Amino acid sequence: MSKIIDGKKLSKEILQQVAVEVTELTERGGIAPCLAVVLVGEDPASQLYVRNKIRCCNEAGIRSVEHRLSSDVSQPELNALVDELNNDATVQGILVQLPLPGHLDESAIIEAINPSKDVDGFHLLNVGLLSTGQPGLVPCTPTGCMIMLEKVLGDLSGKHAVVIGRSNIVGKPMAALLLQASCTVTIVHSRTRDIAALCRQADIVVAAVGQPGLVKADWIKPGAAVIDVGINAIEVTEADGSVVRKLVGDVDFAAVEPVAGYITPVPGGVGPMTIACLMKNTLSAARAQSTTVQ
Ligand code: NAD
Repeated sequence: MSKIIDGKKLSKEILQQVAVEVTELTERGGIAPCLAVVLVGEDPASQLYVRNKIRCCNEAGIRSVEHRLSSDVSQPELNALVDELNNDATVQGILVQLPLPGHLDESAIIEAINPSKDVDGFHLLNVGLLSTGQPGLVPCTPTGCMIMLEKVLGDLSGKHAVVIGRSNIVGKPMAALLLQASCTVTIVHSRTRDIAALCRQADIVVAAVGQPGLVKADWIKPGAAVIDVGINAIEVTEADGSVVRKLVGDVDFAAVEPVAGYITPVPGGVGPMTIACLMKNTLSAARAQSTTVQ
């Protein structure tokens, strides 16, 4: 098995499997899943993410509807749209693309989404279900990381995992999933002393920080699995003097790859897995809503 975990290939397999299960669900009389994506403003990165999500919906046989709102939309207007989607029986998943413009209260919008349609898994009810080990909708990026880890390592029980970063969307749910898989979990962050020494003890390192090349080769125990969640746009000067923009992760890939047992590339690692898991969540939501309706 290659030591580079190919998230692009694995995500395609997941999309194909979701497409098969969507057909099975609808043939059994269940609801055909539909994802509503809400995009506020013109942020180019958000526009790209939304385009990719809609493209993957098509690949997975999931219907999608896009709602584009101007960057000066008010909180009541956005709330009204979320309410409308909550009450729309033809919509099973709702995703409000983050970040929202500064005048909008992100937490209030997330809490306004019906938890059974919260395919990002950010609603407090889903956060609570995850942290108490009960079934719910789980954030997509950490789910994708777990699929990759289990694919290459099998049972994760007893392994020591270090998660770098403690955000609500990646670090914390990642730690919760690793704990659920019976890992010993250490969370390190901007205030942690000697992160390198803690990482060197780990069988699994998950980096979710947003700092290019933070994780160095001498942080990694030989043979450890390294999952790079970071997405950083940097400018690189080529040999001919031209400057090009490149996407890199939080891991110094060239230096770490020879030491690691397994490693994810950026791009082509966690990113495509995140979107594939969004499709899995939309299917799960449709399945759960089909049971409620029948
Ligand atoms: P965030 O800014 O919310 O959190 C970053 C975390 O890193 C914080 O908890 C902070 O304590 C920690 N941190 C900051 N500096 C540190 C340092 N020097 N050492 C150790 N920890 C440090 O970011 P986020 O939303 O969790 O995203 C992290 C990265 O992952 C970003 O690059 C983001 O673009 C990327 N991301 C990728 C995907 C994907 O699908 N691949 C999804 C979500 C986020």
